[in-house]
Amino acid sequence: MVKYITPYGFCFGVRNSLNKVRELHKNRPGAKIVFVYPLVHSKETNAMIYKEIKATNYSPDVPQKEYRGAYLIFPAHGMTAVDHRFVKSLQAKYIDCTCPVLLNTKKLIKKNLSDGKNVFFLGKKNHSESRFMCDIDSRIHFISTDEIDTYDYQHLNDFSSIYLYPQSTLSQETLNRFNANIKKFYKGKYLPYHLCIECLKRWNNGKSIVPALNDTFIIVTDQSSSNGNEFADLLRNKFFRNKIYTIESYQQLKSLKKEINFRGNIYIGSATSTPNKLVEKIANHLKFWSFCKRLVPQFRDRN
Ligand code: SF4
Repeated sequence: MVKYITPYGFCFGVRNSLNKVRELHKNRPGAKIVFVYPLVHSKETNAMIYKEIKATNYSPDVPQKEYRGAYLIFPAHGMTAVDHRFVKSLQAKYIDCTCPVLLNTKKLIKKNLSDGKNVFFLGKKNHSESRFMCDIDSRIHFISTDEIDTYDYQHLNDFSSIYLYPQSTLSQETLNRFNANIKKFYKGKYLPYHLCIECLKRWNNGKSIVPALNDTFIIVTDQSSSNGNEFADLLRNKFFRNKIYTIESYQQLKSLKKEINFRGNIYIGSATSTPNKLVEKIANHLKFWSFCKRLVPQFRDRN
C-alpha cells in the first residue's frame, strides 16, 4: 500500500508567497518581474511560478538601468535591510513575500528587545531565515546549529534570562539537543520559542507511524530544503531499520525503483515547498508499480 504522510505539499507560508506573486502578475500585467533569490527552497516550485508569470532571475551582468521600475521579488524566508538598499539602488519596486509566521516571530523579537530581554537565535549558518532574523537588531545573539555540541554554555550565566528563537524549520530533535545542553550548564530563566507548526504537523504524523520492517519511507524534497532534510533525518533516527529515501523528482524515483520493497507499505511525505502535484504524481507511479508487481509474478521476483 502507498500511504501519504499528511499534510503534504505546500505549507501556508509557501502558498502565501505564491499568491502574492500571482496577484502582482494579475494586477500589473506586462510588469517586469524579477526574482533576486529563489522564492522557496524547491526548484520544481520556482520553475513552475517563473514560467507561469514569465519572470526572470536577477543578473549582475544586465545593465542596472534595465531594472528601473521593475518589481523585485523577495523570498518566503525574509527580506533584509541590505535587500531594501539594493531595491533603492536600482530604483526598482519590490514585493516582500516573507512568510507571516516569520513576520510574527520578528514582531515578538522586537518586543522582547524593547523590553530589555536577551534574545538568542539558534539557526543554520547562511540560511535565509537566520540572515533575516539576525538582521532585525545587532543585539540578537546568533548560535549556529553546527556549534550545539561545542558551544560555551557556561558563559550564558552572564545573562539572567534567555529568550531563545529557533529557526522555524529545525527539527524537534535538534532543538531538544540544544535544550538538553543549555539546561545542563545554564542556571537562569530559559524561555525557548516553538518551531513552525506547519512542519511539526507533518513530522509528528510521520513519527507516529508504526512501520513493519519491510516498509519504506520516501520524502519528496529539494536538497536545499531545510525542513525536508530534517523530516528525513528524524525518520532515519526513529526508524533506523527501515529504508528512508529523499527524492527531488520523478526522474530520481525511476532510478530508485529496483531498490524499493513493494511487499511492504510505502509512506510518502514532503517538504513544505514541494508541489502537491509532484507528490501525487510520485505516489501514483508507486501505486501502479506496486499493482503490477502483485499481478505479474516475474515483476515480483525481480524485486
Ligand atoms: S515552513 Fe513554516 S516558516 Fe517556513 S514558509 Fe512554511 S509556514 Fe512559513
